[in-house]
Amino acid sequence: MSGLLPYTALDQIPTTVNDLRSVFNTGLTKSLDFRKQQLQRLADLCLENTDALIEALNKDLRKHKVESVIGEISPVVDECHFMIKNLNKLAKSEQTSKRFLMNATDKTLVRKEPKGVVLIIGAWNYPVNLLLLPFVGAIAAGNTVLLKPSEVSANTAALITELIPKYLSQDAYRVVNGGVSETTVALEQRFDHMFYTGNGAVGKIVMTAAAKQLCSVTLELGGKSPTVIAPDADLDVTVHRLAWGKFYNSGQTCVAPDYVLIHKPLLKPFIEKLRAFLEKSYGNKPQASESYGRIVSDRHFDRLKAMVDRIDASKIAIGGQTDASDRFIAPTIVTDISNDDANLMVEEIFGPILPVLVYDDLQEAVDIINSRDYPLALYIFSKNEKTANWVLDRTQSGGCCINDTLMHLQELSLPFGGIGPSGQGNYHGERSFAAFTHERTTMYKDASAEKVNEVKYPPYNEDKYKV
Ligand code: NAD
Repeated sequence: MSGLLPYTALDQIPTTVNDLRSVFNTGLTKSLDFRKQQLQRLADLCLENTDALIEALNKDLRKHKVESVIGEISPVVDECHFMIKNLNKLAKSEQTSKRFLMNATDKTLVRKEPKGVVLIIGAWNYPVNLLLLPFVGAIAAGNTVLLKPSEVSANTAALITELIPKYLSQDAYRVVNGGVSETTVALEQRFDHMFYTGNGAVGKIVMTAAAKQLCSVTLELGGKSPTVIAPDADLDVTVHRLAWGKFYNSGQTCVAPDYVLIHKPLLKPFIEKLRAFLEKSYGNKPQASESYGRIVSDRHFDRLKAMVDRIDASKIAIGGQTDASDRFIAPTIVTDISNDDANLMVEEIFGPILPVLVYDDLQEAVDIINSRDYPLALYIFSKNEKTANWVLDRTQSGGCCINDTLMHLQELSLPFGGIGPSGQGNYHGERSFAAFTHERTTMYKDASAEKVNEVKYPPYNEDKYKV
């Protein structure tokens, strides 16, 4: 089977991983100059092929150029430049302040070493960002890397598979183009770290594969990220920033607001303002708007359409239109929904449908959040930081953003990751370097001064114990 490029032959995958290990063992990727040069090449790849990447993303997701540049390409370039600038500092061994008297004159170091051969599996919704951003961290940390783009966004996968060997070292970095079978074979190979972005069901497959060989993992998963609209929220600001974050990439964002918890008296004005803002953003026919994306595949379209079809028409406050020929689903707002709704409140929606639940007391909103898996993101809209902190102190989530959505993900100085079912480990900036780095404990003992050491050798006696 092939996407837009032939898939990598299954029997080639073990050989490729073995080759990556041999190259790692030569020390090629440990050189800081080599890492910086490769990071620059990756930035060049993005900058010299921006138009081609935009085109591929548009074919896959009908992503607008603005969303492709801001959400996909620029973060990778920015991260390359960050790593090039900070690599000497990040890779420098750290000295520790010793606490054990017998080691007082010895040297202790934490060496920042690459983990070795790492596997990075990307997802389709931000197919450039989610594959290449962790790649930046893996290169910077000095690893050899096997990349596995998502087959669902086939145009982008094909382009990346073609471009990587043109720009980067083919000895150190390889791409497996393929689907489940190719990923399955890759997961059977010996790696020193697996970095996976995608849904939790496959997350378990990846973690099981890692457990079999006891290699470390980073899991960037998803979940139902709530938005709490507090009684004192600025409703205009809330509507703008919530709608932007929800309908960006047609709701196919891991940290998209999945459902809203709003103070009951605000519901009516909220819906009215939302209607006006959506019309301003996408016109009265969102299907005709170039700023509005499409659902990535027929399978995901069918899943979302089935969701829309199950909603009682009286509960659809805005939207509800679908068009299979175009994989279009209108921005859809659903009200009169309860926490135990079997259609919209079970799985992560991952599309442009937004259920709105009302609460009387903020504690009710907190109880609903706490009745569910820890989400990847939590959003709180309130003019009062104390109110926001009150909610934060009573809940858990991978990350949170107050008075906006998605922006904490865009800010690469912040660690990004989930907790429990929404993921484990994190990355971006310094954390990306750390995710692919082994902190190697190193002690250089003084080979002289044997007198000091004599106290630790048997035969033991009470005096030695006091030492
Ligand atoms: P996907 O279908 O592209 O799958 C991700 C990867 O897993 C692909 O490379 C695919 O080949 C591989 N894969 C799929 N099934 C497999 C199997 N049975 N065995 C081995 N490998 C397999 O992406 P998806 O899972 O549909 O992505 C959507 C999910 O990802 C959502 O839950 C979303 O919230 C989450 N997500 C999380 C982040 C994050 O950064 N935390 C980002 C984007 C998406």
